[in-house]
Amino acid sequence: MIQLYIPLNFLGVIYREIKQSLTDLDKMFVLMEKEREVRDGADAKPLAQPDGTVHFEDVSFAYEPDRPILQHVSFEIPAGKTVAVVGPSGSGKSTLARLLYRFYDVQDGRITIGGEDIRTVTQASLRQAIGIVPQDTVLFNDTIEYNIAYGRPGATREQVEAAAQAARIHGFIAATPKGYATTVGERGLKLSGGEKQRVAIARTLLKNPPIVIFDEATSALDSANERAIQAELKSAAQNKTTLVIAHRLSTVVDAHEILVLESGVVVERGTHVDLLARQGRYAQMWTLQKVEAAPVVL
Ligand code: ATP
Repeated sequence: MIQLYIPLNFLGVIYREIKQSLTDLDKMFVLMEKEREVRDGADAKPLAQPDGTVHFEDVSFAYEPDRPILQHVSFEIPAGKTVAVVGPSGSGKSTLARLLYRFYDVQDGRITIGGEDIRTVTQASLRQAIGIVPQDTVLFNDTIEYNIAYGRPGATREQVEAAAQAARIHGFIAATPKGYATTVGERGLKLSGGEKQRVAIARTLLKNPPIVIFDEATSALDSANERAIQAELKSAAQNKTTLVIAHRLSTVVDAHEILVLESGVVVERGTHVDLLARQGRYAQMWTLQKVEAAPVVL
């Protein structure tokens, strides 16, 4: 009986390993599939001015031919400034981020950085220039150190720790028995949404790119955590050309410009103060969020 039990148990382990590897492979193929949407042109050159102004010029885009997602979207993020995009779910906010990172190419109009059309530059140089803090960070089944250092291959432990400190995840890591050698991801320690976002912020801080994209999580964090994450995002965005896809209006108050997107069309734009004064869609959203966030008075 014991003899039979051991091989069966062993087979179970192998089965789980293979199943897990397949899950990882699935993820990799999904990522590769996205990579394959665009290719470098034969004469693609490295991005000359990664710290230049980001410009969306009359951009239109559809994932499927007869379902337009973005229509004639134009805006500029001057170097070092922040533009925030707000709007209902499905209005195309994250699509703007995917286009800037060039997961897809625009079908009309163009996106330029420092005046250069991003379709004419190498993808490697474009992605080197951009750091993304996505809604849901994918962690590798590897150590927490590897997961943070992924932002800058070859980073030293000191640099990784400094980034983790700044993203306020160091204390959490230090409290685990294996510290930075702790395996995270599906096969290791599972992190909460807020912790994963902090890992992504640490990665971005370490990468130190001139352009940063924040795709704010839709899932609600508790309010103390949310305020802390917002403070960390703010410090990570300091002096960087930043595109914020915001679900909470408190994130956008200081933005250079706020775009209100509805069904892929910019329906309002301006600073927080401008938009409140206009008493339109943004002002409505603001009032609604304030009411939702207000404590219940008994
Ligand atoms: P949310 O606030 O919920 O994150 P969003 O404003 O960021 O939404 P997008 O993710 O940009 O919206 O999606 C815009 C529209 O494009 C949605 O209707 C979505 O279903 C569709 N869409 C997104 N990705 C794809 C895809 N890969 N293929 C086809 N349609 C897609």
